[in-house]
Amino acid sequence: MRECFEVRDTDAAGRIGELTVPRADVTVETPALLPVINPNLDTIAPRRLATEFGAEILITNSYIIHETEDVRERALEDGLHDLLEFPGAIMTDSGSFQLSEYGDIGVTTEEILEFQREIGSDIATPVDIPTPPDVDRERAETELETTQERLELAEGVETGDMLVSAPVQGSTYPDLREAAGRHADSTSLDVFPVGAVVPLMNDYRYDDMIDVVAAAKRGLGADAPVHLFGAGHPMMFALAAAMGCDLFDSAAYALYARDDRYLTVRGTRHLDDLDYLPCSCPVCTEHSPDDLRALPDDERESELGAHNLHVTFEEIRRIKQAIRAGNLLELVEQRARAHPTMLDGYRTLLDHAAQLERSDPVSKGSFFYTSAESARRPEVLRHHRRLERLAVPDSLLVTEGSSPRGDEFDDSWRVEPPFGPFPRSLSKSYPLTAEVPDRTDRAALEAAADGVARLAAANPDADITLGHRGWPDGVLERVADAVDVVDLSRE
Ligand SMILES: [Zn+2]
Repeated sequence: MRECFEVRDTDAAGRIGELTVPRADVTVETPALLPVINPNLDTIAPRRLATEFGAEILITNSYIIHETEDVRERALEDGLHDLLEFPGAIMTDSGSFQLSEYGDIGVTTEEILEFQREIGSDIATPVDIPTPPDVDRERAETELETTQERLELAEGVETGDMLVSAPVQGSTYPDLREAAGRHADSTSLDVFPVGAVVPLMNDYRYDDMIDVVAAAKRGLGADAPVHLFGAGHPMMFALAAAMGCDLFDSAAYALYARDDRYLTVRGTRHLDDLDYLPCSCPVCTEHSPDDLRALPDDERESELGAHNLHVTFEEIRRIKQAIRAGNLLELVEQRARAHPTMLDGYRTLLDHAAQLERSDPVSKGSFFYTSAESARRPEVLRHHRRLERLAVPDSLLVTEGSSPRGDEFDDSWRVEPPFGPFPRSLSKSYPLTAEVPDRTDRAALEAAADGVARLAAANPDADITLGHRGWPDGVLERVADAVDVVDLSRE
């Protein structure tokens, strides 16, 4: 059991947790956003991040601090908290990304961690090798070995009550990511960044990103706090949270502001293209788009940065509320409509429904069927598995709605898309209380038919009859041979 992290609520693989950061003497509620602070240029002062935006934790780059002489001296003398004037927890990145650009790093793991400790970091990061996506397997394996050696070295470094992160690498090889997760989990290190996913996100490869995170999560224990390193666009937070990411770091709010780009949960807009500001944050209620465009460069950047952060923190709160309410996947479904590649990400998330099902609560508020993808949610998968354990009479009618022919059988169950059959006594239990559109879709009917087929396969001696109302032949083929079929709409 990791002492620094406690999971409170779960929904799919998403969770609300508490990350205890002893050196800062703060507890950070997750999912959490870590604004990225460049000590040389702060778009928004760290103190403002705490007071105005409620940031409990931020991340800054120890490499930049190390390489900037006056900043380094002040950090060593006064500590990061005084330097940045930030009361919450401060995580430091080692600068692996910068270091990897320049080849040989010339410093040891011990020295890197020692420096982070000396400047007062609360969560330090060893120098790992951020292997990019799609490299050949040999390179991914070799670099992962180096990363793992450094994690083992980091374990041996005296770090006091500073937490230390253990990056999970492995490029786009799921088995390597899983093995990397298992290895990182076996160390005594504390926080687990899934590394080198920025190139995937820059290329809108949310499907591959989900596969990478899912693989890392399979290796990591359920009590491991997971950081999606470099994920800063609020559009994809819900998706990543549903796969079990707890920490996000945003440089996007500042980088985008510098380019006059305005973040929304449905994507990014250029300020020049906005006739209206679709947001109610203080920036957007006090300015029109023309006002913003007329501001001097530095003020405009600061105002846009503030808006971008408001939107980002708002989405984090929305995700937490969704987890608490048990409707995180409905939120993911909405976000998946923002961009076709987000829909690919959501569909890939559902490829991992069995993995999500393990932490998905047995009972929640209400299941809303809001897209064809809903038919593949973990609740449907769980119901189908449950069908194999239900006692079935010798002759059974499973039927949509009520059936005039129920008395011809030993028992009559309901069948409802997307779940399939269930005894009427379960009608009031989750998820069978689902709200499903009357004008249902093919995916829901197919999932229901698969449920019928599964019940029949588990009970080969029972005579099962399916009473449906106008299901297409293609759907009925999925139960062919296993059950008798009656079209009730023709009776
Ligand atoms: Zn705004």
